[in-house]
Amino acid sequence: MARLLILGGTAEAAELTARLAGDDRLETVTSLAGLTRLPNVGSGQIRRGGFGGPDGLAAFLKDGGYDALVDATHPFAAQIARHAAEAAEMSKTPRVKLVRPPFARTAEDRFVPVADMQAAANALPQNARVFLAAGRRELAPLAARHDLWCLVRMIEPPAADEALPKGELILGRPPTDPDAEIALFKAHNIEWIVSKDSGGRAGAKIEAARRLKLPVVLVERPALPKGTTVESVDAVIAWLESTLFGG
Ligand code: NAP
Repeated sequence: MARLLILGGTAEAAELTARLAGDDRLETVTSLAGLTRLPNVGSGQIRRGGFGGPDGLAAFLKDGGYDALVDATHPFAAQIARHAAEAAEMSKTPRVKLVRPPFARTAEDRFVPVADMQAAANALPQNARVFLAAGRRELAPLAARHDLWCLVRMIEPPAADEALPKGELILGRPPTDPDAEIALFKAHNIEWIVSKDSGGRAGAKIEAARRLKLPVVLVERPALPKGTTVESVDAVIAWLESTLFGG
């Protein structure tokens, strides 16, 4: 049986393991960073925690006799993507990067593209009322802007020593219904949205911004390492077929 390591923590990684579950030519292990309390895991074997950098991952791939590596981590998880590329090179393991396409742009969007969270903070006008959905350790640039009022939504609670921007914090997953986001934005007189371009189907937040004609400061993705990159689970399965089974 061929052995496959999937770097996960995304819906796509969970979908991939579910799709591969019935394939008896393959044994899959999904690796999670281990930070999230409620990870999206899918099926198959799971391992958790960092590898200790590219060398650690290269050793893990070799010692575990892995035949291929699928990096299906989040488009903003730049460090693990770089480590995966380096480790695959060192251990001579075929690697593919699965990354969902950026948000589709429409004529109604008022996107202000920026390179990172610091640039997002710089792009906001004085005294703006802002909504943002954020991960841990992403808030420092906004917290430093004392004139802003921010409604922050986080899935995981902020780290104990993390500075929060002035405003309100909501803990929880995003709603799927744009009407719920519209109601939230109206209730807090939100004028600006800050969002990472996480890609895929633009969620309720972006749809709500569109309908309310609110400007969105859109943080663009970090650059990907060189190498094979695909945008769908189907394309990963085709890559596995040709890489592992010569199909
Ligand atoms: P990151 O900054 O690129 O990675 C930080 C370190 O975490 C890596 O160097 C690696 O440690 C470890 N790591 C990350 N993903 C791992 C995995 N799947 N398995 C084992 N170790 C992993 O990543 P991040 O932005 O903190 O994201 C962590 C995880 O959350 C990723 O797996 C990602 O798919 C998921 N996620 C991230 C976002 C986001 O917006 N960044 C959103 C949703 C989900 P070592 O160097 O010790 O190996």
